[in-house]
Amino acid sequence: MTITWRQSIGLDTQHLSDFKYGLESQKDDSQKLYPQINSLIESDLANLFAQAKFDNVEIAIVSSFRNFDKQLTIWNDKWRGYRPVYSKQGRPLNIDKMSSIEKYKSIALWSALPGLSRHHWGTDLDVFSKDAIEQGYDVQLTEDEFSKTGICATLSKWLDDNLEKFGFFKPYNEFKGGVAVEPWHISHIKQSQLILDSFDFHQFRQHLIQSNICEKEFIIEKLPHYKEYYFENVCKGTDNQC
Ligand SMILES: [Zn+2]
Repeated sequence: MTITWRQSIGLDTQHLSDFKYGLESQKDDSQKLYPQINSLIESDLANLFAQAKFDNVEIAIVSSFRNFDKQLTIWNDKWRGYRPVYSKQGRPLNIDKMSSIEKYKSIALWSALPGLSRHHWGTDLDVFSKDAIEQGYDVQLTEDEFSKTGICATLSKWLDDNLEKFGFFKPYNEFKGGVAVEPWHISHIKQSQLILDSFDFHQFRQHLIQSNICEKEFIIEKLPHYKEYYFENVCKGTDNQC
């Protein structure tokens, strides 16, 4: 079973369920929202979390499902200079004087085009060390945090040793010329591949044409490039090799 084209670009949410593992004690907090994930990955993810806990590595989910409009806001805010845009090394860039192509490449390094984010699928999550967050650490999501000396070093090593056993992988484990390395981003191998294989680019393109994305004509013209260098240009789930 796969999801509809509307679900695959973050317009419909029937494929999602709340992931409550380890968060039941927070039920009385009405402000607390459970992370939303694809229902089909729920048991694999619960098993992954249970094993991590058993191994004394507690995982926090810092980002799960994100809808089309949220991704559009992120993208447009960056394009307009309302949100910071970072280099591959994590330094803030001045995009004021950039050409459209430079802007596009700089933003696409860290943020997906609305409709082409794997976070729309509910199969992909950004994770962080729960201990660090509970100690008040301000999450940045940088490579340093997941390096051997970083605050997520233990989690990072555990993910490398265990993800595949539970059916997950890191699609941005190495830089392949498109998206920057994101060691915090994990994905369900089977369900994400099913969505990628059946992705309806025509319907996506039609929807983007009707959206209010900045510099629309330029972006639409760049779609084949984006598809090849960012959307499909990820590490493989089978052996986590690039
Ligand atoms: Zn992510």
